[in-house]
Amino acid sequence: MIDIANERMNILFSMAKKEFSNNPNRSHRYVSLARKISKKYNTKIPENWRRSYCKNCYKFLNPSKNSSVRLFDGEVNIKCHECNEVMKIPYKKEKKEKRRAKIEYYAIKKRNNE
Ligand SMILES: [Zn+2]
Repeated sequence: MIDIANERMNILFSMAKKEFSNNPNRSHRYVSLARKISKKYNTKIPENWRRSYCKNCYKFLNPSKNSSVRLFDGEVNIKCHECNEVMKIPYKKEKKEKRRAKIEYYAIKKRNNE
């Protein structure tokens, strides 16, 4: 049952993306339908679509059309132009991993030179 719910949410979000240029209201409706499914079956919205709707007004967000994405202070700031809410998603973990990989790379390089 959860698989079907996930599949339906994926379909709804991809339809929302397709319809956005012609019918923005229709894609907002698809997002609310997907949320209804996620609440009914107590499943999460698929990972790849989690950033494509507003957490405040639940409207579909299309970067450059009705939202803007900025990187600021280790966070991805997604601003919804429908309600002016800013969603902040930290990416410090990724940054830390990158730094660690770099240090490891130089350590190995140094060891090989000695
Ligand atoms: Zn919003």
